[in-house]
Amino acid sequence: MIRDLHEQLKRQEISAVELAERYLKTIETKDGEIQAFLDVRREQALREAEAVDHKIMRGETVDLLAGIPGALKDNMCLRGERTTAGSKILDNYIAPYDASVVERLRQVDVVMVGKTNMDEFAMGSSTENSAYQRTKNPVDTARVPGGSSGGSAAAVAADMAVWALGSDTGGSIRQPASFCGLVGLKPTYGRVSRSGLLAMASSLDQIGPLTKTVEDAAIVFSRISGFDRMDATTAESKGKMFEDFLDADLRGKKVGIPREYFSESLDKDVRSVTMEALERFKSLGVSVEEISLPHAAFSLPVYYIIMPAEVSSNLARFDGIKYGLRVNDEKERMVAAGSLLETYLDSRAYGLGAEVKRRIMLGTYTLSAGYYDAYYQKAQKVRQLIRQDFERAYGQVDFIFSPTAPEAAFKFGAKTDDPLTMYLSDIYTVTANLAGVPAVSFPIGTVEVEGKSLPLGGQLQGKWFDEEGMLALAHQYERWS
Ligand code: GLN
Repeated sequence: MIRDLHEQLKRQEISAVELAERYLKTIETKDGEIQAFLDVRREQALREAEAVDHKIMRGETVDLLAGIPGALKDNMCLRGERTTAGSKILDNYIAPYDASVVERLRQVDVVMVGKTNMDEFAMGSSTENSAYQRTKNPVDTARVPGGSSGGSAAAVAADMAVWALGSDTGGSIRQPASFCGLVGLKPTYGRVSRSGLLAMASSLDQIGPLTKTVEDAAIVFSRISGFDRMDATTAESKGKMFEDFLDADLRGKKVGIPREYFSESLDKDVRSVTMEALERFKSLGVSVEEISLPHAAFSLPVYYIIMPAEVSSNLARFDGIKYGLRVNDEKERMVAAGSLLETYLDSRAYGLGAEVKRRIMLGTYTLSAGYYDAYYQKAQKVRQLIRQDFERAYGQVDFIFSPTAPEAAFKFGAKTDDPLTMYLSDIYTVTANLAGVPAVSFPIGTVEVEGKSLPLGGQLQGKWFDEEGMLALAHQYERWS
């Protein structure tokens, strides 16, 4: 898709402004219902598009992604523009700088049509935790788009953007991709700079693309990845264009199927779609073998200790003083209140939603004196064992395949009353974040639910920094189908 549009732009069959107008028009007609966007950047997007047209008219070579309309999840800073992370506490927050991914995208002249809705501070699996609006799944508007990058997924699925960026701490790119029939890539930890991404859990967070094809994901990924001096956890890399390696010869490569992921409790339709996918891998010349990830059962509990611990620390900065909303200002009782503590408490009580507060409390508890060893320290040790499971598995196979999520998109309200059932949505995805490996979700079939055909994603995990091989396999699978 991106390559085609790029050719059309280059041949001047369409101008970047016309292309931007086309997507802005779709936003106008569809987003009243879908509600994917928190902000539409009409003026700015058209200006960005004009600049691309000038370059093309002057005969300059432009990047593959130049002039291609995309969207950003609203937890990435855009200089001079509102960045809310889906939270009321940042309702009036204007970012003073660009996130590093945004800087890189500007360098290749992309057009950014808007900022997308998300679960507050990226906590959730349905986008229902947004303080602002409810984003609908374009495949079936009675259902959620997944989360927390639900706005980005819905924007691409409804053709309101060609590509979008999401962030993934425990599945927030891959699960919405699965629910909306898209490709979603969570890169290796350290591949993409987190500078200017509003942190959820710093040892797990990664930014990545949501697109309609694997090639498009590779194109966007190539342009946002690489070492960044603003993020000490980014790794040196050669600045590869991953889209150039998608046709690599994969014969002889091995896909591992973790026996722990295919237990009795796996939904039978999800199982059969996943099994069919395995047959397709075989027809690509790739062999499939069973493997074991012995500590897989601990992934979700470990995630729900480490992630809230980091959340409680990262979100301490939202205190009503340093950023965004200050409740006592609004009430004009700063002097009357007389207490800084009261300002903190009121601002956080009013500005943060229930799920965010729940995780801050959990994290504060597990990090507190006396409990730190029992919970946080222990979880870190098990995280190490989970990582070792992957090291061992990757001595045997090149990739690991599973469903992305245990089910297709669910209905609004289906899980909002019980946080634990919502947390189960992440059962297959959190491990990649804990181990730091790359993972991609791509459509592998559909299931019939209440007379509707709903998309299902398959998840391919790769070796650390082997996005190249992983994307090639996903691409060849996609082309084959
Ligand atoms: N759904 C998971 C959670 O609620 C993942 C979130 C994410 O990846 N940002 O924590």
